[in-house]
Amino acid sequence: MSDAQEEAERQHQDNSPEAEEQSSDSSDELEASGDPEMDLLRNLFSRTLGFSSGEKILDELSLEGVAQYIKSGKCKNIICMVGAGISTSAGIPDFRSPGTGLYANLQKYNLPYPEAIFQIDYFKQHPEPFFALARELYPGQFKPTVCHYFIRMLKDKGLLRRCYSQNIDTLERVAGLATEDLVEAHGTFYTSHCVRFLCRKEYNLDWMKEKIFSDEIPKCDSCSSLVKPDIVFFGENLPARFFTSMKKDFPLCDLLIIMGTSLQVQPFASLVSRVPKSTPRLLINMEKTGESDFVAGLLGFGGGMDFDSDKAYRDVAQLGTCDEGCLALADLLGWKEELQELVKTEHDLIDSKDKKEKAEADKTASGTEGGKTDKTD
Ligand SMILES: [Zn+2]
Repeated sequence: MSDAQEEAERQHQDNSPEAEEQSSDSSDELEASGDPEMDLLRNLFSRTLGFSSGEKILDELSLEGVAQYIKSGKCKNIICMVGAGISTSAGIPDFRSPGTGLYANLQKYNLPYPEAIFQIDYFKQHPEPFFALARELYPGQFKPTVCHYFIRMLKDKGLLRRCYSQNIDTLERVAGLATEDLVEAHGTFYTSHCVRFLCRKEYNLDWMKEKIFSDEIPKCDSCSSLVKPDIVFFGENLPARFFTSMKKDFPLCDLLIIMGTSLQVQPFASLVSRVPKSTPRLLINMEKTGESDFVAGLLGFGGGMDFDSDKAYRDVAQLGTCDEGCLALADLLGWKEELQELVKTEHDLIDSKDKKEKAEADKTASGTEGGKTDKTD
């Protein structure tokens, strides 16, 4: 084979749809660590060139420094990575924190362990606990938080590249982010599918909502198999969109804002190391997290957060609630009033819509027992 042929052959292989499919479907673990060889090379280069002690993007490692950087107009591709902590002030309990009411509520279902409720194999045998929880956590019963609207403001101002969320409460959408603004890494309630591999019929939110609130286990119209909202259960792959978007977005990211996540769940947590070495990273969280451990650093897979060492040059931790952190940042940016106004307007809108829906539901359900699904506030 001539060199030219060989080159053509190689290109064909690289571009073939099978190759694309394989790379996006490959195991989470592989994706999580990215391309170890390239990471190693990058690390070697940055060390040899002494990059980390060189170019400093932030004037100071503080929220003020980040605000200055945003105001300078030099960043236009902000990525937000968010987790349960941004929704707790909306009243949605963090499933992973022990001691929340959620665990107590789950006890009546005799789960072998609390996470079983999100385990795909368990779900297929015992779907009831999940749907009971779904009724409780149903999207639309909660209002987005200050933090959600701060992300919306980033979008409105043309600064948001994408929001990567671990949450399934869809509050990002309620706050005004569109499908293209979002990567719902752990899936969404927005659509549902029949779990039978050969059927996979799709159902919309209204259909699922009706089943959930009528206390019925959702079954497929065509094949009577279980129908499951498109949230990612333990034991399932992440949406292909997570991997394809990640590859395009993170090399372009010029400011990473991580909010309300303890960065414990892979492959989501590993995203922080995918931004360029010069990209500032702001963590808004109750405690510091994501710092790389010693062994990973030695192996060259570092990329973890470094807030405090004498080599720290781009990572800022703003400790406290996500709402407080976003308000403080908005204040420094001169956006505070605009943010508060946005929150108020949007919340009023949701309230008036709720009232209308409740009134209509009362009309149709008057006298029947159907009104039992009301939550006590
Ligand atoms: Zn089906």
